[in-house]
Amino acid sequence: MNILPYPHPALRWKSKQIQEINDDLRRVVAEMFTLMYAAKGIGLAANQVGLPYRLFVLNLSGDAEDKEEELVFINPEILKRKGSTEGEEGCLSFPGMYGQVKRAAKIEVEAFDLNGQCFGYSLDDLAARAVQHETDHLDGVLFIDRMTETAARDLQPVVADFETQFRRWQSDGRYPSDEVLKRELLAMESRPPLVAKS
Ligand code: ZN
Repeated sequence: MNILPYPHPALRWKSKQIQEINDDLRRVVAEMFTLMYAAKGIGLAANQVGLPYRLFVLNLSGDAEDKEEELVFINPEILKRKGSTEGEEGCLSFPGMYGQVKRAAKIEVEAFDLNGQCFGYSLDDLAARAVQHETDHLDGVLFIDRMTETAARDLQPVVADFETQFRRWQSDGRYPSDEVLKRELLAMESRPPLVAKS
C-alpha cells in the first residue's frame, strides 16, 4: 500500500459505503495510520491508497505516539455546514503543495468507528477543515477544486507538473494506464472484503 499521487484515478473515484468491519479493514486502517505518519500528515483517505471505500483516518496532532487523538471515520456524513472560512491546506497526494481553500467554518459530522459504533461531532477550526478535506476525497473531490481563485491560478503550474510526472511514470511502467487502474478499482468495489494491494 502506498500514498498515490495526483492525478491517479483513485483520487477521482466516488467511493462505496463499507458494509462490514472485519480484520482486513482493521489491518488497512493500521497501515493507513503508518503511511500517514511517515508522510507527516494529519489525515488520509482510503482512495489515497487505492481503496475505493468510504473511510478516512485522522490524527490532528500528527504525532504517532498520541494514540488518543487517532480517529477512524467509516461511512462519514457531513450533516450540517455553517459559515465560511479560508485557510491553508496541503494534501498527501500533492506533496509539498499548499494553498488557500474555502470551507464551511463549522460542521456536524456523523460516522462509524472501528467497533461499528456511530459517533457524531460538532467541529470548527482545523478539525472541521480536515474532516471536510477528507470527506471530499471519498467523493473524488480534491482541495484544488475548492481553492480560492488566486491560489488556483498561482498553483496551476505545480498541478500541471504533478500531471506530467504521473503520465511519465505511466509510460515508464511504474503505474499502469488509467484504463487498467479504473478496472482494478471497479473490481475492488464489487469484491469486498478489502484486499490491500502492495
Ligand atoms: Zn488530501
